[in-house]
Amino acid sequence: MNYPNLFAPLDLGHITLPNRILMGSMHTGLEDKASDYDKLAAYFAERARGGVGLMVTGGIAPSIQGWLKPFGGRLTLPWHKPRHRKLTRAVHAEGGRICLQILHAGRYGYHPLSVAPSKIKSPITPFTPRALSSRGVERTIRDFVRCAKLAQESGYDGVEVMGSEGYLINQFIAARTNQRNDGWGGDAERRMRLPIEIVRRTREAVGRDFIIIYRLSMLDLVEGGQDWSEIVTLAKAIEAAGASIINTGIGWHEARVPTIVTSVPRAGFAWVTHRLKGEVSIPLITTNRINMPDVAEDILARGAADMVSMARPLLADPAWANKAREGRSDRINTCIACNQACLDHVFQNRRASCLVNPRACHETELKIEPAAVRKNIAVVGAGPAGMACASALGERGHKVTLLDRATEIGGQFNYAKQIPGKEEFSETLRYFQHRLSDTGVDVRLGHTADAASLQTAGYDEVVIATGITPRTVSFPGSDDPRVLNYLDLLADHHPVGPRVAIIGAGGIGFDVAEYLVERVPSPATDIARWAQEWGVDMQLAQRGGLQPPVPESPARQVWLLQRSAGRPGARLNKTTGWVHRATLKAKRAIMLGNVAYQRFDNEGLHITVDGTPQILPADHVVICAGQEPNRQLADQLIALGMKVHVIGGADVAAELDAKRAIAQGTRLASVI
Ligand code: FAD
Ligand code: NAP
Ligand code: SF4
Repeated sequence: MNYPNLFAPLDLGHITLPNRILMGSMHTGLEDKASDYDKLAAYFAERARGGVGLMVTGGIAPSIQGWLKPFGGRLTLPWHKPRHRKLTRAVHAEGGRICLQILHAGRYGYHPLSVAPSKIKSPITPFTPRALSSRGVERTIRDFVRCAKLAQESGYDGVEVMGSEGYLINQFIAARTNQRNDGWGGDAERRMRLPIEIVRRTREAVGRDFIIIYRLSMLDLVEGGQDWSEIVTLAKAIEAAGASIINTGIGWHEARVPTIVTSVPRAGFAWVTHRLKGEVSIPLITTNRINMPDVAEDILARGAADMVSMARPLLADPAWANKAREGRSDRINTCIACNQACLDHVFQNRRASCLVNPRACHETELKIEPAAVRKNIAVVGAGPAGMACASALGERGHKVTLLDRATEIGGQFNYAKQIPGKEEFSETLRYFQHRLSDTGVDVRLGHTADAASLQTAGYDEVVIATGITPRTVSFPGSDDPRVLNYLDLLADHHPVGPRVAIIGAGGIGFDVAEYLVERVPSPATDIARWAQEWGVDMQLAQRGGLQPPVPESPARQVWLLQRSAGRPGARLNKTTGWVHRATLKAKRAIMLGNVAYQRFDNEGLHITVDGTPQILPADHVVICAGQEPNRQLADQLIALGMKVHVIGGADVAAELDAKRAIAQGTRLASVI
């Protein structure tokens, strides 16, 4: 049997889960409007079909005060039940099981009705919450219980009470946010009364045969968080109050330690759950950066947890569990923890999806169905756009030839995977390698396509996915051999000196800076080194699990420069940009805006900053000044009258990323 621990059933008394895989709660943006529940049902049904043991919905508010945002998803009234029944019926029809997550946002609510234990504004929302009165606390408990009861009546198999990530319950537990002096605050015992009462009264209301998962904050990662003894005490009390399972929560949203981005080592927090093993007798779920079956199996095999939670990996591949069980792990479309299409979308109030799987949350709209007419199609360029398009075309039954002048598939992903903390990107290349062969695509590498040969080959249609060329920048001395571009570094591995100036502070400029300052192998591959860098106390001796960070010394002095005024990196992605900026700051990289490039000579790079001249004593300069579309071939084919589609960077290079490239390639393939 493959992964015997992962696929061992879990007996919860009234119900037996078929395996140890939990699809953790994830907000998709489809929870908020009743009209989106058919789409949400299709999304969950596909994942139930994929073999996951138990699923948890995105956070649903038990009251309007508990909303994450105005008019967010809630289950507070009997007439809300029919929309939820759509989800539970769809999941049960596929043989799956699903719990509703009850989430009260507390002071994280992005609206003026928000409430909290004390009137203390969070650093991540503009609204100051109202402090709940004692009666308000009682009402809040009743709201949780009513929500759980309505969930039961809607057909859910259970609920998850969200007690972590810095939401309301967590705000009550931590002295940092609870400055009350009534029955709900003042000392640790009174601060933890709220979750205990919620679980106890919920159990009373729903009876024995209903799952109650409690999401326990095991590592707050904020000043004034809980200490370990308080966490153990709370875990025991939650068990006694009637919870069926305890799930792990890591870090408040306002924590300045990354907890799920790609540079966090795989299973980087399973050690926290492991510490709680033996303290309670109900099953413990561990979480964060678990994305492949061998990682999950290892956690269970060494007894660090009883179950593993994966959220984004199930967005990336709904059939994750079945593939693992059938010994086809090499076919898993692995979550690369980029956050680009999931969490970043949610923060922008957009529907979530997935960079590597654009069908996620669009199951009813983006379908890869058999083609009515089989066509002979060439795809030129095996970068993310070309790989996604060719494999989807192949899946639809077309005859597909994928040409690339390089000797390996992947395009720019072959450079991205070399960046410290982006090692996961090689998983996407492994996945597409298999997917292209499974879908019968004829892949021809080391083959530079030209217009004449494409015309004579007699293709019905040609897809041009030839990507980009790096933008060149000209200034006195820019022709010096010590002035390089990012491909010299990442493709040709040109050596550089100990002091490097980078021109351009976009996504690639930041990545190249990290490539130059980090030591090899990067801390992303080693949990203890990574924890030390970010100040995570693995001994759990400090309150909140924090200790002073001890960053490793930088491998080089780096200057990261941009012409525009303001802070470099301000335009990086919402949920990951701060991690890149903090990493470089810790490595003492100097980031400058409002820079004009004057010349490069033996003294270094001459620049002005805010009009004031400076000489950066750089041994090398690396240009990362954006990209231009590589669409010469497309233009030639169009001139020859061929039927041509242009996708990815070849189409538009500005603000290109792999999310757009893969989505565009997949969408085109679905309609050819
Ligand atoms: P490309 O990946 O550029 O692929 C084009 C392919 O076409 C190449 O393989 C090339 O060899 C081939 N080709 C060109 N001309 C011909 C021809 N005539 N005949 C045959 N083959 C040809 N994006 C993200 O979303 N997130 C990230 O974190 C991220 N990090 C990055 C880090 C780095 C260091 C770099 C360089 C890029 C990163 N990107 C990231 C950007 C992402 O890789 C690109 O947006 C994506 O690769 C664009 O895909 P594409 O298919 O359009 O083009
Ligand atoms: P980019 O994000 O557009 O950044 C280009 C940088 O070069 C900017 O800092 C720009 O700032 C500067 N620049 C532009 N023209 C210049 C010129 N003529 N002379 C000097 N400087 C110039 O492009 P990129 O860094 O090449 O990245 C390419 C794409 O890959 C991006 O769209 C990005 O989304 C994607 N990517 C994403 C990630 C990720 O983590 N999500 C990581 C890497 C790459 P000034 O004009 O102010 O100087
Ligand atoms: Fe994972 Fe990125 Fe997809 Fe989100 S968008 S699920 S982080 S691969």
